[in-house]
Amino acid sequence: MISNVTKFIDLNNQKFRIRPKPQEDELLSSWLVRVARSHLTHTTSFTNMHFKEYKTNIIWQRDLDIWCPDQLIERISFKSGYSQEIIFNMTLKSLEGIVANKITGKSNTANIRALGNYCHIKTKGGLMFCPECLKEDKIPYFRKIWRLKKHTICEKHNIKLLDRCPNCLTPLTISKSFQEKDFTFCYKCGNKL
Ligand SMILES: [Zn+2]
Ligand SMILES: [Zn+2]
Repeated sequence: MISNVTKFIDLNNQKFRIRPKPQEDELLSSWLVRVARSHLTHTTSFTNMHFKEYKTNIIWQRDLDIWCPDQLIERISFKSGYSQEIIFNMTLKSLEGIVANKITGKSNTANIRALGNYCHIKTKGGLMFCPECLKEDKIPYFRKIWRLKKHTICEKHNIKLLDRCPNCLTPLTISKSFQEKDFTFCYKCGNKL
């Protein structure tokens, strides 16, 4: 049961109580959603309680994996106990010099799919996924490689990546959930991705 009440608690100076391990090549946004869910709170309430300076919902209104400021990386590192390097490596900024010369988040980034932020809804299908990978994962998570323009096929399963729910065609917004399901279900229709 996910609690709404907790959004009124100020946890700004507290550490996370549960610290799920980042998975291989995991996106920061994917990991942070998992951290929030492991505390049985809504993703937005969780970050509003923990990061006063990014109230309200700012973290989810941006493209966290590109935008994440150094100061937020420091704060997440402090709260999670994982090094700043580990947190930074989950962002797409860690691919600067590899997929693009500069990754600033100020404009569209070459070779990275745009999310299309509309408030905290992502409208452009910029986060792709392989349904078979998600199904196989012991701990389902979203990969950095799934944001890259060049990467359209899962090499492991030899199938095309999807950029939206195959049932209702809504692009993914992993910070949102259908009822209390995790992010492997479409937030709009509840279909298993
Ligand atoms: Zn796959
Ligand atoms: Zn759907």
